Amino acid sequence: MGRVLTLLYHRVRPYERDVQLLSVTPEHFEQQMGWLKENYNMIGFADDWKSVEGEAVCVTFDDGYRDNFLIAAPILNKLQIPATVFVTTENIDTEREMWWDELERNLLVDKKYQKTFHLSDELFECTWDVGTFEQREDLYNTMHWLMKLTGTEKRNEWMWQLQEWNGYTENGRVENACAMTKDLESIDISQIEIGVHTVSHPVLSKLSIEEQQNEIQMAKRKLEEILGRQVLTMSYPFGSVSDYNEDTISVCKSLGFSKAAANIPGIWKPNDDLYQVPRQIVRDWDLQQFQKQIKIFWEGK
Ligand SMILES: [Zn+2]
Repeated sequence: MGRVLTLLYHRVRPYERDVQLLSVTPEHFEQQMGWLKENYNMIGFADDWKSVEGEAVCVTFDDGYRDNFLIAAPILNKLQIPATVFVTTENIDTEREMWWDELERNLLVDKKYQKTFHLSDELFECTWDVGTFEQREDLYNTMHWLMKLTGTEKRNEWMWQLQEWNGYTENGRVENACAMTKDLESIDISQIEIGVHTVSHPVLSKLSIEEQQNEIQMAKRKLEEILGRQVLTMSYPFGSVSDYNEDTISVCKSLGFSKAAANIPGIWKPNDDLYQVPRQIVRDWDLQQFQKQIKIFWEGK
C-alpha cells in the first residue's frame, strides 16, 4: 500500500525578517530537494495516488508568490522534481503584496512611525499606542487576527486606513511580489502544476456556500484562462479543520476538482479523503534538521 507525505512550502528566498516563518532560503531548499530526490519517489499532487506504491513525497506551495517561479522552479526543474503551486488570484499582475505582508509593511518595517494609530469604521473604533516596536508588534498580531476573521471587504478597508496613515500606496515591495501572468504562462507544465487557492484568501468556513463557490470558481476560471487548460486541484486558505467545511468540499467536488489539500498534519493513505489531503509545513531547516523532521513526519508524530 502506498503512502504519501505532502510537504507545504510558501516561499523560497533569501530574507532578513520573516514574521510568519513562511520562507526557506534557496540554499536550504536546494539541499532539501536534493536529498528528497535521492531518497524518495517524488510525485505530483495531481497524479493518481491510488497507484502509488511504497513511500512517496509530494511538494506543494501555497499562495503563489513570485519567488516560487523565479527561485524555486529552476531548482525543481534541475532536479526533475514535480511540484504544485496553489495560487491566490487577486494579486496577479498587480503590485500588491499578500495581505499579511502588507500588514507587516505598515507596522513592522524600520522607519519613523506616528505615536498612535486610530482605526474607525461603522462597526469598530479604536486607538492604539504604537510608538515602540513592541507596541506595533502587538497591533500587528491583533490586526492579523481581526483581518483573518473579518472578510475581504473589511480587511481591505482597514488596510487602506493603515496605508493612508503611513502615506503608502498599494504598490508593495518587489521581494514580496505575487505571480504574474507571464510567470504562469512560462512554466514548464510537465514540472510545475498550478492549483487554486481562491481569489482573496478568505477563511472559507466563514462564508456562505454561494460566496465560497464564487471564491473558488472565479479563481479557477482566471487560472484556466491564463494557462489555457483545466485546473483541477485546490488548497484551502489557512487550511486547518476550522478554516473550511462540508460546503467547501462539496463545492470542490461539484466544480470537478480531483483533489484538495488541507493544512493538517499527517500522511495520506489509499482509503483517506482526497479532498482533505494532510500536509506538513516545512520551515527554514538545514539538511540535518530537515532529515530529522521528515522522519518524524513519517512516524506521524
Ligand atoms: Zn495560503
